[in-house]
Amino acid sequence: MLYAYWFRKDLRVNDNKALSEFISVVRNRFNKKKDKIIFFYIKGKNSFSYYGEKRIKFLYECLNDLYNTLKKFGFDLEIYSGSSGDVIKNLCENSDEISLYANKQYEPYNIKRDKLIYEIIKQKGTFNLFNDTVLSEPGSILKDDKSPYIVYTPFKKKFLNLLNINSFEEYNSDLNQIREFSKYQYKSVYIEKINILSENFNLKNNLNFKGGRKEGFKLLNHFLNTRVFDYHLLRDFPSINGTSLISPHLHFGTISVRECFNLALKQTKNKKALKGVQTWISELIWREFYYQIAFHFPYIINGAFIKRYDNIEWENDKIKFDRWCNGLTGYPIVDAGMRQLVKEGWMHNRVRMITAMFLTKDLLIDWRWGEKFFAEHLIDLDFANNNGGWQWSASTGCDSQPYFRIFNPYLQSVKFDPDGVYIKKYVPELKNLDGKNIHKPDLELIKSEKYPTPIIDHFKMKEIAILKFKSVSN
Ligand SMILES: Cc1cc2nc3c(=O)[nH]c(=O)nc-3n(C[C@H](O)[C@H](O)[C@H](O)COP(=O)(O)OP(=O)(O)OC[C@H]3O[C@@H](n4cnc5c(N)ncnc54)[C@H](O)[C@@H]3O)c2cc1C
Repeated sequence: MLYAYWFRKDLRVNDNKALSEFISVVRNRFNKKKDKIIFFYIKGKNSFSYYGEKRIKFLYECLNDLYNTLKKFGFDLEIYSGSSGDVIKNLCENSDEISLYANKQYEPYNIKRDKLIYEIIKQKGTFNLFNDTVLSEPGSILKDDKSPYIVYTPFKKKFLNLLNINSFEEYNSDLNQIREFSKYQYKSVYIEKINILSENFNLKNNLNFKGGRKEGFKLLNHFLNTRVFDYHLLRDFPSINGTSLISPHLHFGTISVRECFNLALKQTKNKKALKGVQTWISELIWREFYYQIAFHFPYIINGAFIKRYDNIEWENDKIKFDRWCNGLTGYPIVDAGMRQLVKEGWMHNRVRMITAMFLTKDLLIDWRWGEKFFAEHLIDLDFANNNGGWQWSASTGCDSQPYFRIFNPYLQSVKFDPDGVYIKKYVPELKNLDGKNIHKPDLELIKSEKYPTPIIDHFKMKEIAILKFKSVSN
């Protein structure tokens, strides 16, 4: 028997559901005379063409950290390059029997892939999947009529009622329990492997995110002991470091969602932190909500959640799109956001909403173009959250912003970056403007500062956008 553990979006050995099950099975059943064990990760070959280099760098840091952790218990981490189907086929072909363990993934394309893996494996063994990524496994929280929730607030209410949260059981995945079997590791010589240490990244050292469990845990702990106190007050201001910054870690699973909830719940005992923690927990529940949406409505992968909005005639002007991508729209808050994204692989949530709304409602460009551009640049790219955020902003999603409530980018800027601190950081051409002028520089100033004139007139475009939505609404 080959006991195989497949790390996917759970790049940690602590509090890991599938790993705890794997350890328990290996501990009880491993036969030193004939069994082998392996831990592996598969990196799809085309990942670089779609996902940004910054994200891959972060991933490699996580893998490196995981590699070193496994080493402490005597185990290797094999990092394969190729399609999952080919890798698993190879493992099956080279073993009499296989018992494969992993945590479930809920993205429509991953569900499809896992069905294929089941088919490949079924003659040779078992593919054992567990829920680890979210607290509420998609399908476990349903309306009374057994249909999925499509509105956030009642979902949240049921989530809090059902789980009756005090604390969540964390899983014992201590590798010491199976350390003695590290002498019996399986090595594949037939599959292409990646040496993550030899990979070179042509990136300037200006990234704010570092992969790995220690980093993720440090961020989480620090946030919950400091910034969470004012989270409800400051989370919308992009110039203030007011949020946790844990999204890339939650995505790759260097920290578990249970750890996030449990540490947050502990802080609710501190009265001064209560409001901030409650607001933060609500954000984690948005993640749970979007995961179950992606699971129940897989067509959102390339279509609007509200299907009639697939009929909107987007203008899809490529020149305007390029200006948006490059932060040259002449709307300072939008340009600051887009430049932050491209430079750092990150954008503050408030500005994600502003830039996404601007692309769809002011430039009339299909939200899928924006979703893809974010996917190419975000370190924390997460299908369910990205799609959810885009469809919310485009008003095509479930429980999204109504199409007639279009953000005014100037007012958003005045409200959430009143002194232009965020704008000045990413749009240095405007650094000499005062707080009044920076949100909407006048034309003379634009000329002297070499900053583009506004790409469109927001008020005109707002009317056109509303008409476009209205025309497909009946
Ligand atoms: C257009 C658009 C695209 C987005 N793309 C992504 C994406 O690819 N990956 C991603 O993780 N988030 C995405 N978000 C949601 C949100 O912007 C980020 O989760 C958040 O900015 C991450 O920062 P943080 O970890 O400091 O969040 P915090 O404010 O500290 O929140 C804690 C955690 O809660 C979850 N969360 C917070 N806000 C949301 C939200 N609106 N929807 C779902 N989950 C949320 C995240 O996991 C986050 O890490 C997107 C939002 C929009 C509007």
